[in-house]
Amino acid sequence: YNTKIKTVEAPQGYSGEGFFATSFDKVIGMARANSIWPLPFATSCCGIEFMATMSAHYDLGRFGAERLGFTPRQCDLLMVMGTISKKMGPVLRQVYLQMAEPRWVIAVGACASSGGIFDTYSVLQGIDQVIPVDVYVPGCPPRPEAILDGFMRIQELVGQESLRRRHSDQYKALMNSYGIE
Ligand code: SF4
Repeated sequence: YNTKIKTVEAPQGYSGEGFFATSFDKVIGMARANSIWPLPFATSCCGIEFMATMSAHYDLGRFGAERLGFTPRQCDLLMVMGTISKKMGPVLRQVYLQMAEPRWVIAVGACASSGGIFDTYSVLQGIDQVIPVDVYVPGCPPRPEAILDGFMRIQELVGQESLRRRHSDQYKALMNSYGIE
């Protein structure tokens, strides 16, 4: 986490990454993808579906994610499930900021993704108004299978993500667009 990657200039005539760097990335990616520690940020009904997802029948634990955390500093996947009011927005953002890099976010269900049926003055019309989202799971509520599918998409992202992405200009620009240094 937060490891500074030293960039070494490639030898002349060689612009790609070497065998060791790419293989190391793959091993780290595989380890990360299969040991995700989720933080369930559940505010309403979608949270109930998450309880089912954790139960023996659906068993999110078989993906290496049985260890839920309730402190953001020890989690790397923020799972937002439920209606997020505008007053809750800054709290959600604070929780996100307290997570160490690399961190990922799933918006589970219509409310977290877009405000859902609550097109009102008090409800945030999607959590991506306050934090960046990696995967959106549709449904009101999404069934546990859909939550598992969203989780597996996060695993794909995590597994393929180069250690260097978090230091890329593109990533920094995304964070800056949310006012995050
Ligand atoms: Fe409830 Fe539907 Fe909103 Fe999920 S998406 S929190 S089930 S109203």
